[in-house]
Amino acid sequence: MATLINPHEFRGFAVNSRGPLAEGGRKHVVVMGAGPAGLTAAYELLKRNVPVTVVEKDHTQVGGLARTVEYKGYRFDIGGHRFFSKNGEVEDLWTEILGADMLTRGRLSRIYYRGRFFAYPIKAVNALWNLGPLEAMLCLASYVRARLQPVKNPRTLEEWVRNQFGWRLFSIFFKTYTEKVWGISTKELSADWAAQRIKSLDLWVVIRSALLPGHSRRGRGEIVTTLIDSFRYPRLGPGQMWERVASISEAKGHPVLLGRAVAHVNHEDGRVVSVTTTTEDGHAETHAGSDFVSSIPIRELVAKLDPPAPEYVRKAASSLGYRDFISIALMIDRANVFPDNWIYIHDPSVRVGRIQNFKNWSPDMVPDQGKTCLGLEYFCFEGDGLWTMPDRELIKLATSELARLGICFAGEVFDGVVVRQEKAYPVYDDSYQANVAVVRDYLASSLPNLHLAGRNGMHKYNNQDHSMMTALLVARNIASGSRLDPWKVNADAVYHEDIRLGERDLSGRQVPERVPAKA
Ligand SMILES: Cc1cc2nc3c(=O)[nH]c(=O)nc-3n(C[C@H](O)[C@H](O)[C@H](O)COP(=O)(O)OP(=O)(O)OC[C@H]3O[C@@H](n4cnc5c(N)ncnc54)[C@H](O)[C@@H]3O)c2cc1C
Repeated sequence: MATLINPHEFRGFAVNSRGPLAEGGRKHVVVMGAGPAGLTAAYELLKRNVPVTVVEKDHTQVGGLARTVEYKGYRFDIGGHRFFSKNGEVEDLWTEILGADMLTRGRLSRIYYRGRFFAYPIKAVNALWNLGPLEAMLCLASYVRARLQPVKNPRTLEEWVRNQFGWRLFSIFFKTYTEKVWGISTKELSADWAAQRIKSLDLWVVIRSALLPGHSRRGRGEIVTTLIDSFRYPRLGPGQMWERVASISEAKGHPVLLGRAVAHVNHEDGRVVSVTTTTEDGHAETHAGSDFVSSIPIRELVAKLDPPAPEYVRKAASSLGYRDFISIALMIDRANVFPDNWIYIHDPSVRVGRIQNFKNWSPDMVPDQGKTCLGLEYFCFEGDGLWTMPDRELIKLATSELARLGICFAGEVFDGVVVRQEKAYPVYDDSYQANVAVVRDYLASSLPNLHLAGRNGMHKYNNQDHSMMTALLVARNIASGSRLDPWKVNADAVYHEDIRLGERDLSGRQVPERVPAKA
């Protein structure tokens, strides 16, 4: 059965399936997606007494990429989610929402390579020491060779990093993991990213930190240890934050409508008038509003515009790419498996990219302190061999890789569950900026009451804090008519999480791009 509300009614008096929506000039905002961005927009709008309807395609959960999945009392993230922001307002918002349930946790994360653990962020002395005298000598020789005979005008990430560190250090600390994450050869990734991100190896710094291990400096290009050694985390995982926001919204009379996938974004006369959602059993509802916030992927949003967007806009949106992700949670019959929050797996003999130990994020993530729940993360593309592998095969693969890495015995794994996450990462290829600009310009000029926010909602490689900041700005623009620019979020921020020894102080979060085709 379909509930169809005539969107034309909205101008004066709009209704939805639950009754009157808004009257006269009053605003009512329809928010697409109940991840951090959508829920932050709703939270801010409700604080400003603007009523909202949030529609979410997931049947059971809010939180989007930052949800927490529960399986037989074990809780795990889609990738461990640190709560960390340079923005005081976002930090305060997290405290306001969760209070004492917001824990401060110590961070330990290391790199695993051929049976050894290396400090992360990478410390040159620790790395050379761990590699052993022979490999360390070979690495130094390869470094000297690279400095004496650099590749002229390096175009690829591989050439650039090899020039700075030598081939051997490049292949151990850059090649495998970068290729696992992005599914693209480092020969195809652009040197620009590395050149902006990574400072070359300075032997004097290495020698100095070997002789003066406690020595630390602050300022451009160095680690601010206090900020990267700890982070905040909700007691029951990131989903707890977003479940709390959803219940606050419900308490104010605006429950998140779960199981509603946006099917049509209906517009006329240069304004969006309503959004039509469908449930799995085919039930359609139309939600009218004065303003619309979209945190759903740009590619999907544009495909759902009704009437359709011009062909050049559809083409730009459909060219946007994503990297997908599988998390395999394995339950281990052992209290302590490793002390890290997570481990990067650089070892080329296995496909797993990262392993989370959720109990080390918060003890309440497991129902029994005598057991451990590890999340093995595999980066993939929707539809590829990993994505389509049956769950039991994936659990077998993850179990055998854990055993091969020597992290635990296969026999200690007593249960497992698979979560597939499509569109985990917006891909920055050499045309994405132009494609996003086409969509953004079209929407701004043709449908000004449709506002984009969030990570895939703006095709920006944002963490939660920046996804939330874009949503806060959008909500304020709607509520008060201000003209804050959410596209500027990210422009001045630094992400300490990714700053490694010797890396430069960066503007924004960066991801590698493909090498542009030769002119
Ligand atoms: C592996 C991994 C690790 C991460 N680690 C961190 C971290 O440590 N710290 C951190 O701060 N951030 C981290 N992030 C980033 C963080 O998850 C995102 O910034 C944040 O979730 C983005 O919020 P969002 O609301 O913009 O998008 P999303 O979380 O993607 O939410 C969008 C919502 O829209 C819904 N939706 C999509 N299509 C439709 C449709 N057609 N109809 C209705 N609803 C729809 C989705 O189901 C989803 O709920 C990580 C992300 C990943 C993938």
